[in-house]
This record gives sequence, structure tokens and C-alpha cells, in this order.
Amino acid sequence: MLEKAPEAERGGNTYFTGGGFRFPYNGIDDIRAIIPDLSEAEVERVDVGSYPLAQFRSDLARVTDGLIDDGMASALVREAAPTMQWLHDQGIRFALMTGRQANEVDGKLVFYGGLSVEAVGAGKGLSDQQFDAAERVGVQVRYGCKVVNLQRDGRRISGVELWTDDTVEALEADAVVLAAGGFEANTEMRTRYLGPGWDMAKVRGTRFNTGDAIRAAIDAGAQPFGNWSGAHAVAWDLNAPPTGNRIVADLYQKHSYPYGLIVNLDGERFVDEGADLRNYTYARYGRAILAQPQRAAFQLFDQRTAHLLRDEYHVRQATMAQADTIAGLADALGVDVAGLERTVAEYNAACPSDGPSRFNPSALDGVGTAGIRPPKSNWALPFDAPPYLGYAVTCGITFTFGGLKIDPRSGQVLDTEDRPMPGLYAAGELVGGLFYNNYAGGSGLMAGSVFGRIAGRSAAQT
Ligand SMILES: Cc1cc2nc3c(=O)[nH]c(=O)nc-3n(C[C@H](O)[C@H](O)[C@H](O)COP(=O)(O)OP(=O)(O)OC[C@H]3O[C@@H](n4cnc5c(N)ncnc54)[C@H](O)[C@@H]3O)c2cc1C
Repeated sequence: MLEKAPEAERGGNTYFTGGGFRFPYNGIDDIRAIIPDLSEAEVERVDVGSYPLAQFRSDLARVTDGLIDDGMASALVREAAPTMQWLHDQGIRFALMTGRQANEVDGKLVFYGGLSVEAVGAGKGLSDQQFDAAERVGVQVRYGCKVVNLQRDGRRISGVELWTDDTVEALEADAVVLAAGGFEANTEMRTRYLGPGWDMAKVRGTRFNTGDAIRAAIDAGAQPFGNWSGAHAVAWDLNAPPTGNRIVADLYQKHSYPYGLIVNLDGERFVDEGADLRNYTYARYGRAILAQPQRAAFQLFDQRTAHLLRDEYHVRQATMAQADTIAGLADALGVDVAGLERTVAEYNAACPSDGPSRFNPSALDGVGTAGIRPPKSNWALPFDAPPYLGYAVTCGITFTFGGLKIDPRSGQVLDTEDRPMPGLYAAGELVGGLFYNNYAGGSGLMAGSVFGRIAGRSAAQT
């Protein structure tokens, strides 16, 4: 395995994740098969519901506006559960995602949105466990090796050209599997493909995913595929560093906005905070934030929902303010005072009076506003219980959606005429066709694992 990063920065975006995996299951017994150490008491305390295969499939189609490639979707949905079992068999340990994907309802922790399992130790734990598993079976890892080109022997891809700190090497191989991420950390490619303004987005994860392998493959004849102008981008702390911080990792994200309000510097709302469960909106709201004045937005909460805020709101790195009045909060955040007061008054008048009795944070509760634009379609409680909390965010890009075209059955890269490229396989972020405009939380790690396993198996048979 050739890794561009030095050992101290290994693990790509995977390292920065929450480690959440989306896969279909029929109930707690399927979960117990991959988390055998769950105690009876833990099982009693949770309601994981079920996440049928057909639901996974329809969620992927729904969030991608029906654009997801059929063959890619089928492979992902079909192979997800067996791949989780396989990861477990390789020694990867999983846990219930109680901290982030469940709310207490009637004394039980009720999971929502098809995402119930995370790797033990989150992204860092996942990455470390995967390196350990690879080492156990004799995989040799070379750090500080940047692949810049593919070598060919006739039509067959026969190896790579790589750069180390001080050498250029050609390495021969029977098969090459590309799994080198998207182009999210490449300012020039972001601007070229995603559009103006994306040069200013913060990068949530690794600084090493600069699209090198995508470019090398296209130069060798591979077919660009998928949503090249699209990306996964979220609400990310306004003062986060330009690229990922390995200690804070994903804690700069701010994902509890369905239970609050989001405004811009003018104090105006610009998205439906409650359009869907957060798993199905968070990946597209980063783009909406990027379009606001100074690429800034503010997530506001009151004491009706402050207890629901996820762990990432409680880190000392959070850029936040607290005040007893709306004007005081606006002032502390640098938001237009009159604008915010007007927005909150209009919003409160639009909330249903029986909202508090129907509010359910773990389901689409239908507690929606009437008569304002944008609406808040669920969880629309009045904003009137001080002290008020405000969190300043900007756009953080996670990964890019455009990539290479593969045959989903083999992981083999296809050329611009849809012919398999002998010796070349791909998996992960640099594969296109799965995500368009939006994304369902927990699908990235699952897709990387499913197609990584398929590509690896094919490459081993080459
Ligand atoms: C903050 C954050 C949180 C996330 N949380 C989740 C989550 O909870 N659940 C989920 O499903 N997804 C999550 N994701 C998305 C997830 O990280 C990706 O979908 C997944 O990790 C992609 O895996 P990958 O192997 O394709 O890429 P990566 O894990 O990024 O690995 C790519 C590797 O390629 C190396 N590389 C790059 N260029 C070269 C080159 N030229 N030569 C050699 N090596 C190279 C990089 O150094 C890196 O190690 C999150 C992402 C971020 C940034």
C-alpha cells in the first residue's frame, strides 16, 4: 500500500470520521452479530428499530434526486451488511452510536435515520484497527509515497510512478487499486469543478486528498463519472483551521440544527432546518452556507432543545455566544440585531401552538411552521426560552462527488468508451456515480468498504 502522507498523518479522511456506517438490518439481532459484546442491559435500553434493504435503497434514490447509478446502488445496498460482517471478522470492533444518533424518548434511546453503528474509537479507532488488520495479514505500507502516474504495458495498467521526498520511482504491479480520495483538498480543482467560492471552503479532513489519482487515471484513459460539480459539505466551525485537525477531528461540525434556527449575518433564515432528519440534509447545507454573506451562518438554540445538542457543541473550540435576549445574542454574534428580532418574531408566530406536546426529536414529527419562507417543516418549537445559544459556522467540505467510472461488480475502472481497463481498479471517494447533490449520512465509509472489498478481491485474482 502506497500512502502519500507520512505515518504521523496516515489514514486519510477515514481518520477524521465519526466512524458511522449505514447498512441494512432487520433488528437488534443483526446488530448483535457485529457487536457481540452488547450486554442485555444495553439491549433493553435501546430501540434500534429496523432499516430494511428497500429503505436503504429508497433513501439513496431520494437524497440523490433519483440520479444515483443503478448498478452502484444495487451493489452498495446488497453488499453493505455482508461487508459489515466481513469487517467484524477482520477484527474491526463496532459499537452503538448512542451519543449521536439516538434521543431519549419515553425512557428508551431511540435511534433514527438508518444510522446506528460506529467503529469503536470513531475514525481514529477505525483507521488504527484497519492498519493493524492489514499488518496482521502481511500488507506492507510505504508512507510518504505519492502516486503521480499510471504505467502501462499496451492497454494493461502495469504499475505506478511515485514520488517520495527525494526520489521518483516506477513500481510494477499485476493490478493497481486506486483508493486515494477525492479532490476536496485541492483549491484549484475545487474552484474549477465545484465553482466560484469553493476555494474559500474549509477542508474537514486530510490535506492529502488533492485528486492526484483521479487525474492520473483520466490521463490514462479512464472515464470521469458522477456529479463533478457536487460535494459533501456541512456546517463547520467558523474558526476551524483550513484543513483537518487530528485532535479535534469531526468535532468542528455542528449537526443539531434541526432542533434550532439557522440565520445569516443579516439575521435571516435561508434553509428549512427541519426539512428532514439531519442525516439527509447536513451534507447539502454546507453549500447553502457558502452562498451567504461572508460564508457565515449562525445556529441558534434555546432551552427547549439545548439538552439535545450533540457532543460537538460542548468542545472548547466551539465559536459560540450566550445571551438572555435575542438582541443580546445577535449583538454577541455580530448578527444584524433588528433583522434577527424580526426573524424570530415571524418564526414564533408561525409555530403551531400544540408543537411542544407533539415534538419528537427522533422522528419526522410534522411540527411545522405555517406561512413563512423558508418553512421549518419539523421540530418547529417556539424560540422563546432563554438563555439563548448561538454557534458560528461556515462551509466545511468533506469530499467531492465526482470521480471515476467503475464496473460495480468487479471494481474495475472503465475507459471513456465503457471498456474495462485491464489491471486498474478503484474504490472510495474517487469513484463517481453514487452521490448527486446530497448524501445519506454513514454511506461514505460503507461505500468505501463495499467497493474496496470488491476491488481488492478482483485485483487479487488478476
Ligand atoms: C470530518 C469527516 C467526518 C466524516 N464522517 C463520516 C462518517 O461518520 N461516516 C461515513 O460514512 N463517512 C464519513 N466521512 C466520509 C468518509 O471519510 C469517506 O467517505 C471515506 O473515509 C473515504 O474513504 P477513502 O478510502 O476513499 O478515502 P480516504 O480515507 O481519504 O483515504 C485516501 C488516502 O489516499 C491517500 N492519497 C491521496 N493521494 C494520494 C496519492 N497521490 N498517492 C498515494 N496516496 C494518496 C491519502 O493520504 C489517504 O490516506 C467523513 C469525512 C470527514 C472529513
